[in-house]
This record gives sequence, structure tokens and C-alpha cells, in this order.
Amino acid sequence: MYGTWHVYQPGEAWRFPERDARLVLQVHDAVAVNFHAPVIELLEERAVPLHRPIATLGPDLLDEAFDADDVLRRFRQPAHANRTIGDAIMDQRIMAGVGNIWKHETLFRCRINPWRTVAELDDDSVRAIIDTARNLLLASVHRPNNLNLTHRPKMFVYMRAGQPCFRCHTRLRRARQAEDIRFTAWCPECQPLQEGQAVLPRQ
Ligand SMILES: [Zn+2]
Repeated sequence: MYGTWHVYQPGEAWRFPERDARLVLQVHDAVAVNFHAPVIELLEERAVPLHRPIATLGPDLLDEAFDADDVLRRFRQPAHANRTIGDAIMDQRIMAGVGNIWKHETLFRCRINPWRTVAELDDDSVRAIIDTARNLLLASVHRPNNLNLTHRPKMFVYMRAGQPCFRCHTRLRRARQAEDIRFTAWCPECQPLQEGQAVLPRQ
């Protein structure tokens, strides 16, 4: 997923310049602004079930009826076995909602290296990833009496490559994964590569 949503109070200063805004939704007590989305499509409601990217979305992590067992089964589909978890976690067909920020922060909190393959991870590890991602997303949007984003969870690794890990003080590394042109940052101490690692990071 690319792009980011900010929710502001009317009149509040935006944290990105207006030229980077792609869509602005304004209601009486809030302004939701999308920045940097490469594509925005406006659909009629009846077209939604026929729209392939939406029709094939996995369970929404913010949905009250979210089913973690369903997501675990999706991770276990053979097509995903040899993908890195850093790529698979952002596949919206498996579960919908994790973008680049929460990919970084979920894997760091779970102490899982982004280059481990899905097949290498046991069910408990995949479950921990699903639960952590959901909790982070819920915490980032649930801000009673405060529409500002300043209360979102702390960033441990996202955009911090080259800086010391908050947990162990090791310098955070960064490299590109197979399916994303952006850099992925991780802590080599807290998120170690395993013996027999099948997929090595590209520099
Ligand atoms: Zn660390």
C-alpha cells in the first residue's frame, strides 16, 4: 500500500504540503486528507463487488468481526509459502490494512526478520503478527476526543535506518525486499536472520 491518510480538525495545519494531497474529505467536525496515493478511484456502490482489487481484499484488520483464523489460513496458502513475511504482510488479499509503516513496526515488535519466509514461521508466530498488526492499527485510529495523529504508537524502526535501536542500541539496517521498491529497515539484533535463510536482503 502506498500513500497515507491524515485526519485533522477543521482549520488545523496539515503536516504535508497541499500539493501532495490527492483526496480531501470534509465533514462538519473533521477533514480527512489522503497524501501521495498513486491512484484514487471513485466507484458507484453497485460497481464495488465487480472491482477486482476490492472484491479480492482479505479481512479488514479494523473490522469488529475480524477473523484471525481466516487470515492464518490465507497466509498458509501454498502460493505464499516462499514469499518473505515482509512482502506477504502487506498483501491486501491476505489481510487488509497493513501498509509500509505497520509492516515495519509489527515485525519489530514480534522480533521477526522481514526476510524470513512465511513457510519458516510457525502458526504461533504468524498469529502474533496478525494480532500485533491489528492492535497497532486499532491504536493508531482510536483516539477519543482527539482526531490528531500525534497519539499513534511509537515508531521503533520505520524511517530509522542507520540510527540505534531503541531496545538494544544496535544500528538499524535497511535493504529492499523483492516486491517493494522502498527500503525496509530492521534491527539485526532484535530481528535476527535464521540459519538456512532462503531469501537474503537485496542491498
Ligand atoms: Zn534491537
